[in-house]
Amino acid sequence: MRILVTGGAGYIGSHVVKLLGAKNLEILTYDNLSTGNHWAVLNGQLIVGDLADKDTLKKTVFDFKPDAVMHFAASIVVSESVRKPLKYYRNNTANTLNLLEIMKECNIKTFIFSSTAAVYGIPVNMPVDEDAPMMPINPYGTSKIMTELILKDIASATNDFKYASLRYFNVAGADKDCRIGQAYKESTHLITRALKTAKGEMQKLQIYGTDYSTPDGTCIRDYIHVDDLADAHLLALQYLLEGGKSDVFNCGYGHGYSVREVIDMAKKVTGINFKVEEAKQREGDPPVLIAKSSKIKKILNWNPEHDDLEYIIKTAWEWEKKLS
Ligand code: UDP
Repeated sequence: MRILVTGGAGYIGSHVVKLLGAKNLEILTYDNLSTGNHWAVLNGQLIVGDLADKDTLKKTVFDFKPDAVMHFAASIVVSESVRKPLKYYRNNTANTLNLLEIMKECNIKTFIFSSTAAVYGIPVNMPVDEDAPMMPINPYGTSKIMTELILKDIASATNDFKYASLRYFNVAGADKDCRIGQAYKESTHLITRALKTAKGEMQKLQIYGTDYSTPDGTCIRDYIHVDDLADAHLLALQYLLEGGKSDVFNCGYGHGYSVREVIDMAKKVTGINFKVEEAKQREGDPPVLIAKSSKIKKILNWNPEHDDLEYIIKTAWEWEKKLS
């Protein structure tokens, strides 16, 4: 079995490549290394290429002839998407079309797509299920929805094309053996920032908003360990290959932690009482974002192993220390 992984040198893609390798599948990573790293590709071959470069992409796909494609390569910074929407529609939507067209030419029929909880915007009902209306509040979320809609149309037009879209909630943590983890130069994410503050790389951590309608006034998120998320991708792949139908799945544990709870745990894990400052709300943050995760558990038999904030932060901390 051969699997093409776009973005396999990035944070989530590299954890999936690691799991695919453990199953002895043949893997080819296609990544432009804009945010990924060659050392993160623990299994299989890496081709450095851009999805916008159709010739290289086509040659790669036709030479490798994968049985399935797992598509992670994307731009993911919400605030940047607001400033540079064209970049997001080009990279996340148009470049995915390149890939899908080439897959069609090469007769590849199985596709796993990296989507996001950002497709829901500010959901009315919590926990949010997969049937909630898609009302994104930034171009990042819209760029992902557009791809989901394209996939839906291809699946209805082509009997044997099948896809699974995985909508990620707040992904965090790192490989237990500390070989791979989040390595963005500038991270906007809470756990990474807290740990960078503990490490002294940032002077203080700001809490974006303490006046939300939540028990302690700070936002609540559903933090999921990256290895559990990677496992969900393998299950989705197996499901489609065994005859399952195209579908969309939330990837989260179904419960959340507030910003203050995450900070307390980061202080406990690191043993460092780093500086925290209360600041104003960040634009576009819903007060609570928690996945209803019964669908993925039922249909894919997803049985997460690391639903434990302390473990998530511990693995992220070991990785963060190794980075410096
Ligand atoms: N957050 C914060 N300080 C930071 C970074 C994030 O208070 O330096 C908050 C943010 O407002 C949100 C939560 O932490 O409520 C998670 O944010 P993150 O950027 O990690 O993920 P998002 O939920 O935006 O995808």
